[in-house]
Amino acid sequence: MIQSAGLCYQYPQGPLLAFPDVDVAQGAVLLLSGPSGCGKSTWLALVAALVAPTAGRLTVADQPLARLKKVASDAWRASTIGFLPQKLHLSAALTVHQNLALAQWASGHAEDASRIRSALQTLGVADLAQRRPAQLSGGQAQRVALARAVLLQPRVILADEPTASLDDEAAADAVHLLLDTARRHQATLVIATHDARVAAMITQASDGAAGFAELRLSRPQAKAVAV
Ligand code: ADP
Ligand code: MG
Repeated sequence: MIQSAGLCYQYPQGPLLAFPDVDVAQGAVLLLSGPSGCGKSTWLALVAALVAPTAGRLTVADQPLARLKKVASDAWRASTIGFLPQKLHLSAALTVHQNLALAQWASGHAEDASRIRSALQTLGVADLAQRRPAQLSGGQAQRVALARAVLLQPRVILADEPTASLDDEAAADAVHLLLDTARRHQATLVIATHDARVAAMITQASDGAAGFAELRLSRPQAKAVAV
């Protein structure tokens, strides 16, 4: 489902990030761990075809990403990837319902109110449809953003630091919610986090059922300075 070989990404004026090869099965859960700055968010951006690798090969949901053209990559991402970003990027001016409708329009679909309702319902936030993001708690906003992420039945769900700044109970809820949502959609789930609690939460919540793997990244080596 996600296969990489020799994957590297170089930021202009930034570090060269070299990622270990992966072969993640359909429906599996991948914990992408490692300290801040090790490249977790960058790896997610590569898998979502938001950035192109400097070197190496990456295939996601049977699509070799090198063969995607820019325009095609937007359509591919919309139909394949459900992204739960670290900053949720809910539009403050719009209601919860409108935020989800916006996601449908942005991906070339007509507004489908019944699908929006059912996505919100599944995540337990249907009663918040007419609120604006400022009127939501952190946990509610995350549920709304997850409903938006799975609106188009993605085969891959990517979550970036979903437990950041949550207490133990809320963090465990967030992890459960992600695992449940991925299972319901039979999607492959990647959770990128530097939160040491998450591995134990996944192990406990998945009860050894789903395929679970950890990809641990380390900080890039500082480049040798020529003198
Ligand atoms: P993580 O999500 O694990 O904290 P990131 O993928 O955000 O790590 O960043 C990996 C490395 O790339 C860090 O050293 C970071 O400083 C660097 N980096 C991230 N974004 C940029 C950028 N736009 N320009 C230059 N360097 C960047
Ligand atoms: Mg990050």
